[in-house]
Amino acid sequence: MVKQTIQIFARVKPPVRKHQQGIYSIDEDEKLIPSLEIIVPRDLADGFVNNKRESYKFKFQGIFDQDANQEIIFENIAKPVAESFLAGYNGTIFAYGQTGSGKTFTITGGAERYSDRGIIPRTLSYIFEQLRKDSSKIYTTHISYLEIYNECGHDLLDPRHEASSLEDLPKVTILEDPDQNIHLKNLSLHQATTEEEALNLLFLGDTNRMIAETPMNQASTRSHCIFTVHLSSKEPGSATVRHAKLHLVDLAGSERVAKTGVGGLLLTEAKYINLSLHYLEQVIIALSEKHRSHIPYRNSMMTSVLRDSLGGNCMTTMIATLSLEKRNLDESISTCRFAQRVALIKNEAVLNEEIDPRLVIKHLQKEIQELKDELAMVTGEPRTEALTEAELLQLEKLITSFLEDQDPESRLEVGADMRKIHHCFHHLKKLLNDKKILGNNTVSSEGKDQDCQEPLKEEEYRKLQDILKQRDNEISRHAA
Ligand code: ADP
Ligand code: MG
Repeated sequence: MVKQTIQIFARVKPPVRKHQQGIYSIDEDEKLIPSLEIIVPRDLADGFVNNKRESYKFKFQGIFDQDANQEIIFENIAKPVAESFLAGYNGTIFAYGQTGSGKTFTITGGAERYSDRGIIPRTLSYIFEQLRKDSSKIYTTHISYLEIYNECGHDLLDPRHEASSLEDLPKVTILEDPDQNIHLKNLSLHQATTEEEALNLLFLGDTNRMIAETPMNQASTRSHCIFTVHLSSKEPGSATVRHAKLHLVDLAGSERVAKTGVGGLLLTEAKYINLSLHYLEQVIIALSEKHRSHIPYRNSMMTSVLRDSLGGNCMTTMIATLSLEKRNLDESISTCRFAQRVALIKNEAVLNEEIDPRLVIKHLQKEIQELKDELAMVTGEPRTEALTEAELLQLEKLITSFLEDQDPESRLEVGADMRKIHHCFHHLKKLLNDKKILGNNTVSSEGKDQDCQEPLKEEEYRKLQDILKQRDNEISRHAA
C-alpha cells in the first residue's frame, strides 16, 4: 500500500498581452518546498479583491513558470503517475483553474505544434513504449472518454456519435454495487494495442466534443472530461490479474457564477458547472477535515466517478493552472486556496489484484469431481453412469505414463471411483495379454535367443578347450 497526500503543482500560463510586472513571485529555495507569492497591486487591494491583504503565499510540490514547456510538465508531473500506474496502481491527474488558464493545453495540448502535445498524448506514448519493452507480462489496454455536462454523462467514443447529437445518445449513468464500487453504464471501452490506436481514440473523442459544441453551449468550458486508460496485466501461466486505471481529467472552468451570469440559459448552465465544482469542493473540505465520517461523493456525477481519486485507492495529482494577470487575480487566489485544501487529502493506493475467474472455474470443477468421487466412496453408492470417451482416454494416458515412469514410488491415481479402478484393471489386463502374444512371438524368433545364449556358448567352448588340453596332456604323458 502506498499512502500519499494528493500532490499539488502550479502552472502559470504565459500572458496574452505583455507581461505585467510584480504581480507574483516564485520562491524555490524555501526549505525545498517552493512557494508562490501573489502580490495584489494597491489599486486592487481595497476593491476587487475584497480584502486588505497585499500578498498571499501558497506552497506547492512544484511550481512551473510561464517558460516551462510541455516536456518539462510531462517529466515532472505525469511521468511519476504513469510509472506507478504501470506498476498496477490507480492514478489521476486533474487540472483545475479558471477558463483560459491552460487546463486543456496542459492535459490534451495545443493543436498547432507537435511540441505542444500535452499530458495525454505524451503519457500514452510513454505507456506503450514501456509495455513494448516489458515482455515478462501480458498487458491489455482499453480507453474510455467521458464527458460530464450539466450533470449528465456522455460517451465521447460512442460510435453512433456521427449519426446523432449528444443529447440523443444514451446517457452514461452510475451504478453502485454492494461493495460500493462505481460502474458506468453506457460508457464504452475500446481496446488499444498501440500508441496510434489510443491517439486515434483521443482524437475521435475530442472531435465529437467539438461537434457538440456551439457558441451557445461552450461545452469545453462548462464540462468535465475524463480520459481513462484501463490496464490489466498478468504473468504468463499465472491466474492473478492486476488492474489499474489512469484518469486524465480536464475540469470545467472554476470561475464563479457572478462573472459569467448573464441570465437565461447561460446562467443556468453556469450554475450547473459551479454546482458540480461546488460539490467537488464540499468533498474536498470533508476529506481535509479530520473525523468526518460522511463524505458527500454521491451529490454529483463527477465526484462519484472520481471517488477513488479523492481520498481513496489512487495516487492523485492536481495541477492548478493560473492566469496571473491583474484582472484574474481573485480567481487565481481562489484556485490556489482550493489547491491548499486538496493537498491535505490522504490517499491509500493498493495493488488491485484478482484471480482470473476462468482459471478459478477450472480449479473448482476439478474439486467438485474429487468431492463427488469421495462422496460415492463414503456413501457406498457406486456411480453407475458410463465413463465418457474423454475420461477413458484420460485414464489410458494415465496408465501409459504410470507404466513408463521409472520411479518406483510412482502411483496410479484415479480417485475413489470404482468405475475408473475397474477400467484400469481391464486396460492393464489387455496390455498384459497383448504383451504375452507379442512375447510368444519373440520366443519363436531365434536370433534373439542365440544372442542370449552367447556367453554360455563361450563358456562351453572354453570348457571343451580345457578338456581337450587335459586330454593332450594325458596323451603326451602316456607317450612319454
Ligand atoms: P482552459 O482549458 O483552461 O480554458 P486553454 O488550455 O484552452 O484554457 O488555454 C487558453 C489559451 O491559452 C489557448 O489558446 C492555449 O493554447 C493557450 N495556452 C494555455 N497555456 C499555455 C502555455 N503554457 N503556453 C502557451 N500557450 C498556452
Ligand atoms: Mg479547456
